[in-house]
Amino acid sequence: MKPKVAVNGYGTIGKRVADAVQMQDDIELTGVTKTHPDYEGKIANENSYGLYSAIPEKVSDFKESEVEIQGDIHDLLGKSDIVVDCSPGGIGAKNKELYEKKDIKAIFQGGEDHEVAGFSFNTLVNYEEAIDRDFLRVVSCNTTALCRTLSGIHKNFEIEKVRATMIRRGGDPNQDSRGPLNAIIPKLEVPSHHGHDVQTVIPSIEIETLAVKVPTTIMHLHAINIEFDKNLNEEEIISILEETPRVSLIDEGLEIDSTSQLIEVARDKGRKRNDLMEIPIWKEAIGFEENELSFFQAVHQESDVVPENIDAIRAMFDLERDYERAIEKTNKNIKLKKIL
Ligand code: NAD
Repeated sequence: MKPKVAVNGYGTIGKRVADAVQMQDDIELTGVTKTHPDYEGKIANENSYGLYSAIPEKVSDFKESEVEIQGDIHDLLGKSDIVVDCSPGGIGAKNKELYEKKDIKAIFQGGEDHEVAGFSFNTLVNYEEAIDRDFLRVVSCNTTALCRTLSGIHKNFEIEKVRATMIRRGGDPNQDSRGPLNAIIPKLEVPSHHGHDVQTVIPSIEIETLAVKVPTTIMHLHAINIEFDKNLNEEEIISILEETPRVSLIDEGLEIDSTSQLIEVARDKGRKRNDLMEIPIWKEAIGFEENELSFFQAVHQESDVVPENIDAIRAMFDLERDYERAIEKTNKNIKLKKIL
């Protein structure tokens, strides 16, 4: 029997997770929720995704609209084995009681604290520990990117310290009220929470992060420095990153010099919603000064966490024991190939 998957919160992450679930052959989408009838609900109807009211008291709002629903969240959870909670940060923790009451497994997103599930997940780091779990948290877009690129390097070499600066997009493309519009806003709580968040997945790594927000919507950029216990060379790092799933090294000759050009590649390749689920790293900028490595990586915040949500479902139902095979299966089903 295929595990039945509900998506609670059909927003930026939820719509992408729902599409990705729909593309798998060993799990099944039971439906998605919206809090109110709007264009996203209409599109869920057009996609023939079962749509349910996330808030039972709001069922009448849908009934008065042209967006069709099949019931409320209780009806959806009643026919599902797992829920992927994609509600806004902090709401997932409030929803947990309902999931426990319904005796259903749940995946939370990075906007929740580690404690919501007591286990923070990245496929490359701790897939085996996720097998048969009832609750887990797929870490945020920034933490997912850092875990992907640091995991292979950390496994192969002794890292003394990672320092990373997150240059963060002001808001997602549809968040018309977010900013800044004409400013750079440093996060004055230093270090930023991102380093600690990486340690919820890789506790043994020494990492400190800073963050700034800038007026762009399409991607984040990370500037990363890693200090090792000995001198290494670029080639040793490049060969590890080349082997790392869902990481793409960008060749100098392609003349891709910015996040906007990366998104243009995704557009030209016909990626749905311009999604770039892999983490691009500029190969020419990978460099060493004695024992200190530096590089830049970009993060498509709206989509990079999607494959990990699918891998997590596979682990939680023990559909696949080996993380490399789980990655292979997810990537194949969502047609995720190295972009360049
Ligand atoms: P979003 O605002 O785009 O979507 C959230 C959806 O949940 C909306 O459709 C909203 O109407 C709905 N919702 C509101 N209250 C709800 C409730 N009580 N129950 C169910 N649904 C409810 O948010 P998002 O960007 O998709 O973020 C979802 C989660 O994913 C957050 O934890 C966020 O931190 C995390 N995340 C976001 C990004 C990103 O860049 N957008 C990246 C990685 C992780």
